[in-house]
Amino acid sequence: MIAQVIVDVAAKQTDRIFEYHIPAELEKDVKIGSRVIVPFGRRKVQGFVVGIEEKSQFKGKLKDLLVTVDEMPPLTPELIKLSENLAQNIFSYRITILQAMLPWVMRAGYRKLLVPANEKAKQIPFFQGDPVDLSKMTDLKQIKKAHQLLKSDDAKIEYVVENRAKEKKENQYELTLDSAEYTKIYNTLRQNAVKQKQLIMDIIENKDDYPKSQSSLIKGLGLSTASLNSAVEKGWLKRKAVEVYRNPLAGFEDEEKPVPVTLNDEQQTALNQINKAIDQHKAETFLLEGITGSGKTEVYLHAIGQALAQGRNALMLVPEISLTPQMVKQVKARFGDKVAVLHSALSEGEKYDEWRRIRRGEIQVVVGARSAVFVPLDNIGLIVIDEEHESSYKQESNPRYNAKNVAIWRSKYHHCPLVLGSATPSLGSRARAQKDVYHLLRLTKRANHKKLPKVNLIDLKHVQFAGGQFDLSVELVDAIKKRLEKKEQVILMLNRRGFANFMLCRECGFVLKCPNCDVSLNLHKDTNSMQCHYCGHTEPIPTRCPNCQSSKIRFVGTGTQKVQEELDELLPGARILRMDVDTTRRKGSYKRILDSFGNHEADILLGTQMIAKGLDFPNVTLVGVINADTGLWLSDYNASEKTFELLTQVAGRAGRADKEGEVLIQTYNPEHYAIQLAQTQDYERFYGYEMHMRHAGNYPPYFYTVLISVAAKKEQNAAREAFKIKRYLLQHLNNQVIILGPSPSAISRVKNQYYYQILVKYKKEPNLNKLLHHVQDSAQEAKKYGLSIFIDNEPERIM
Ligand code: ADP
Ligand code: ZN
Ligand code: ZN
Repeated sequence: MIAQVIVDVAAKQTDRIFEYHIPAELEKDVKIGSRVIVPFGRRKVQGFVVGIEEKSQFKGKLKDLLVTVDEMPPLTPELIKLSENLAQNIFSYRITILQAMLPWVMRAGYRKLLVPANEKAKQIPFFQGDPVDLSKMTDLKQIKKAHQLLKSDDAKIEYVVENRAKEKKENQYELTLDSAEYTKIYNTLRQNAVKQKQLIMDIIENKDDYPKSQSSLIKGLGLSTASLNSAVEKGWLKRKAVEVYRNPLAGFEDEEKPVPVTLNDEQQTALNQINKAIDQHKAETFLLEGITGSGKTEVYLHAIGQALAQGRNALMLVPEISLTPQMVKQVKARFGDKVAVLHSALSEGEKYDEWRRIRRGEIQVVVGARSAVFVPLDNIGLIVIDEEHESSYKQESNPRYNAKNVAIWRSKYHHCPLVLGSATPSLGSRARAQKDVYHLLRLTKRANHKKLPKVNLIDLKHVQFAGGQFDLSVELVDAIKKRLEKKEQVILMLNRRGFANFMLCRECGFVLKCPNCDVSLNLHKDTNSMQCHYCGHTEPIPTRCPNCQSSKIRFVGTGTQKVQEELDELLPGARILRMDVDTTRRKGSYKRILDSFGNHEADILLGTQMIAKGLDFPNVTLVGVINADTGLWLSDYNASEKTFELLTQVAGRAGRADKEGEVLIQTYNPEHYAIQLAQTQDYERFYGYEMHMRHAGNYPPYFYTVLISVAAKKEQNAAREAFKIKRYLLQHLNNQVIILGPSPSAISRVKNQYYYQILVKYKKEPNLNKLLHHVQDSAQEAKKYGLSIFIDNEPERIM
């Protein structure tokens, strides 16, 4: 037999399939989806088996495949097929896609930093002389230090291929004798052998509970390891190491079962249609459009119940940020042990174990963030994507897949319905529903009969500001005061972290910029530094202008840190929690802040868009948006859509329980349609208006788009290559296609790389895919000249 293998060779990325002969002794183990080690040139590399054939096309003698990596093939034939389809559509190499389907710990190679235990390295606490896995570093400061070290002669990088995943083992004790023999032993034990008598008595009384784990014997009977060892030596018990799963839901074990609510008419109508598709095995896509609080989650859970009742499994995707403990608790309470959860807050070991429980068929319901769309779940009867408008379903780095499209593919494969839910559906999805490509289902009322909050705009052009700054209007501050007097809570959103966005010299006009990127540095008071939000560069806060030495420098703009300081001054005694990237870096801090706010240990939760979604705090009666305009004038074609979405979502956080809610939005653009329609929470009108704008601008959903970016150390090289690509496309395409650019990207330089981009807009272009694959292949060649080329199909952002 012959195995067709996609090999993992970083320097020679290609979708070419290599053939290997399967030695007889491996024939049983090698399956489609297996990870294998094969000889490649003079090296041994890892690969994935994507096909098994009886005959080879190849004339020469094939090399033998060496060994399989895992006991069970980690990928299923479905996922292998999916990888082939994706590679054709998203301009990523197939090996990258196959790797992305595995939990991080199982991915093949990684770069290890080897540092000798010399004096210099010892000064850096996290090195300690041990090799460090570079890909695992998330702290920008650490990465920077690592790079500095790399430049020094005594450090080196090595590429390692190994499976870092480790199973957790626990000792178990099983019985070796029969009951009569244990009774005999008990009777011969001396009176003072208390522990031993206790153990034998437990065996006699509870023999059906064995084998028992080491921890339960030690905790339950108060035994020591020494007494267990001696029991094993005497032959009373046999010890065995067995695998145990690390369970991220361990803390939720004893939740009481919730009483299922009775659905209202709208919910029931929606559910009936979804259930029908589940029963009939139909690959239909539903768009469930329901205002905030209309009970969409309840519909999902009922539909999942239906799939399970049919003996099928269910996959539910939610944005990372709404995978709150509240949410997980709800699903777990309904579906018990058959639920697996996958998101970034889990430890690598937990992720690995959850993933293997799924692979082994022990799971019926998977709830997870974007990458969970690749779980090896079989027999899927329903897929749900909550908050389908979220741009986080698109991965912004290689492989640039959109989980929504992957879900559509899988729903077709499994002949099961896909439900996309949102209060503010993406324009693309809503337009497809309009054309009956998707099936539109509507929930127009709040399920618990609570009114939508009243939303008022505050025109910052005509207000009095509180305190000496230009961030908080007197009206907003007064409204906060009133709520705090009533012991109610407030959520404030400002979509910008840090203290000020730039340092400006009033003498010479100098603006302090990042040395590596084309952006200004942000002032951060908590770390006493100037920071780049793109590359992590930091430097001390200047006291004089670096250009003219004048002391007349000012820090302009605002951020969450600055507003926190202002609030402290304006509202003495108010307890404020801040939630942004800077306060949630450490594991668990996100949950700690939310728990603390939920327990009313704080009055105000101030944060970036992190706080806009999914949070449900009954005592919050006021939501304030400090600046609604932060995203409005970005060059993105969907800036209005994103602004409308964000404002509607954050407004939905107010007045969710008995107390009526109020929303105050500060803006310099109260006449902008996105802001006005967010005020009335009128999705339908927004949709109509925005579709006109998209039509006029030849933008999605009227046109498809592809963004091609070129990066290089030298600006002219990036530009030259971009022009070359454009010429190539123009030569081979007809004039239905609109090609914009090349132009420098909105941020033209990041990490010392210059970026040029081309935007291709088209309606139908059968040739384009082939041409773009050609461009992608030429990228391999371009790499040699220090050029990088990225192709993003249907980009979420065009910057
Ligand atoms: P959405 O996801 O649409 O924003 P949720 O599913 O979170 O809304 O529901 C909002 C609230 O309404 C929740 O507290 C939920 O328990 C409640 N709810 C949902 N459906 C019903 C119903 N049929 N009857 C009563 N309460 C309901
Ligand atoms: Zn100056
Ligand atoms: Zn930078």
